Amino acid sequence: MVDYGIKKWSNDSFIIKDGEVKVNFGSKPSLLEITKKIRQTGIRGPILLRFPHLIKKQIDTLYKEFQRATKSFDYSGKFSAVFPLKVNQFPNFVASLVDIAKEYNYGLEAGSKAELVIAMAYNNKNAPITVNGFKDRAMINLSFIAAKMGYNITVTIEGLNELEEILEAIKEFGEPVPNIGLRIRLHSSGIGIWAKSGGINSKFGLTSTELLEAVELLKKNGVLDRFKMIHFHIGSQISEIGPVKKALREAGNIYAELRKMGAKNLSIINLGGGLAVEYSQHKNLQTKNYTISEFTNDVVFLLKEISKQKGVNEPDIFTESGRFVAANHAILIAPVIELFSQEYSEKNLKLKKENPPLIQELYELYKSINKNSAIEYLHDSLDHMESLLTLFDLGYIDLQDRSNTEILVHLIIKKSIELLKESNYQELKRVQDRVQERYLLNFSLFQSLPDFWGLNQRFPVMPLNNLDKNPTRSASLWDITCDSDGEISFDSSYPLYLHDVDLTKEEYFLAFFLVGAYQEILGMKHNLFTHPTEVTVEFNENGYNLKNIVESQNILDILYDLDYDLNDIQSRLKSNIADSNLINKEEKERIFELLTLLLNENNYLKVSLKKE
Ligand SMILES: *Cc1c(COP(=O)(O)O)cnc(C)c1O
Repeated sequence: MVDYGIKKWSNDSFIIKDGEVKVNFGSKPSLLEITKKIRQTGIRGPILLRFPHLIKKQIDTLYKEFQRATKSFDYSGKFSAVFPLKVNQFPNFVASLVDIAKEYNYGLEAGSKAELVIAMAYNNKNAPITVNGFKDRAMINLSFIAAKMGYNITVTIEGLNELEEILEAIKEFGEPVPNIGLRIRLHSSGIGIWAKSGGINSKFGLTSTELLEAVELLKKNGVLDRFKMIHFHIGSQISEIGPVKKALREAGNIYAELRKMGAKNLSIINLGGGLAVEYSQHKNLQTKNYTISEFTNDVVFLLKEISKQKGVNEPDIFTESGRFVAANHAILIAPVIELFSQEYSEKNLKLKKENPPLIQELYELYKSINKNSAIEYLHDSLDHMESLLTLFDLGYIDLQDRSNTEILVHLIIKKSIELLKESNYQELKRVQDRVQERYLLNFSLFQSLPDFWGLNQRFPVMPLNNLDKNPTRSASLWDITCDSDGEISFDSSYPLYLHDVDLTKEEYFLAFFLVGAYQEILGMKHNLFTHPTEVTVEFNENGYNLKNIVESQNILDILYDLDYDLNDIQSRLKSNIADSNLINKEEKERIFELLTLLLNENNYLKVSLKKE
């Protein structure tokens, strides 16, 4: 049976049972059951499911692993961490996160003023806040206000000018002064598509010369005691452990040198983020080469070693991993609304009395195909189709002939799939790569999987049910935008096989997993498809609750966000109806009511099971 690599990427959070994919927690509901329950309320289109218990699982793992490692190496530094808000700033995610964060004293990281405002409003009082990114005076002022609120806040300096702004702010605001962190520019860098944040040419951090200057400046102004943390971040989704170790050695030595220079309150090394997530669902592909245990062991061991060598205190360890914490909490459910080959049914076949010989031959292949001849006939029919399409281009056959060709070839494909699916599944898959089924999904790839569009990042995908049957169609996935980039085409390096379903008889949904990090905020409103309807699934003793249901924006709200004047739009629509001389008065009223209803619906397709 095909399991879509669930054991590899799901980390036991999801399982396949009774032909359905189920949440491996609490009452173990199937995703199909949850989806149907949500659709019962009339909601159509894509749905983003959030699972807070999976956020907790990740935070718990992070803390437990670091605690285990520090204990086993008898390491005296403490561990703490924050969540970088840029990975997911959506309110229902943040609400669950800070609720779970309380018991761990897990904080928030902000990279812009707006993110800092989120942290200042929602962070748990004793948990840390870190501020990264380029800062103006207003952002520094916000940090001082946060310190006055009582937050344990650290401002990480990216350049000397920011430090000068802080010194100015100290004069204005006085105590309490936020902790000061220095972002160091490492010689080493990460690898992979997200590894642009480290390295000597990176956008961020102070060079060695600037570090020395910064320490002098702090000393001169009598605030060296505020300098608590050094920070680096070598990139996201670090696929190999090697670069992490290299960066740690460099950072550990910088830490020790700075301590020796008199930075006596410097006690924290902030490793930034970068912990990778396993996105691959295919057997021989692996996106990361280490486990969280290996990662934590290496960090603790290396820092212990360097501290001993250099005769300094073992530093506290601080991380800002975001992808690792958020990715697995969200799943995108996309309804399949069409299989393109479904129109090719026998009842549409309109053979003539006299058919072109190749079409006659196709018909005979179709009638006589059996298990033994299936592969051969399938190849023959594909060749015949090529020839017949050429004949059409040259004007030798007509449109009816062309339609008959397409129908017959698809009927042969379907019949051979039926004949081979038990006996020769591997060969069938091989042949199939030439004849794919196209699945039209009610979602926007630009909105919901922007990293696929921008970086070719693949996400695990699987159907919600039929998992007790072998999928027989090699699948290309199309979204509903009018853009040819809105497609995940079949790729034999990452083959996806789906079921041949009759959408007039059953619904079929695909789920994209690990979409909880970065995808929501990077999502684009191409064709004005906005954030999908979202629902939080929260488990309790009796099962689960669906809460925080936020339906995808309605058409008027979408236009309002683009700064359209809604009154103007509505009065124009109204007068266009009133002025039309194509409709009579009663009809005008009815049309206007209908239009008003439509303006209040979301922009995704509103389709249900198609009855024949
Ligand atoms: C983006 C970023 C992170 C989070 O990185 P992940 O790969 O999501 O863990 C952490 N710290 C800083 C400074 C960042 O810019």
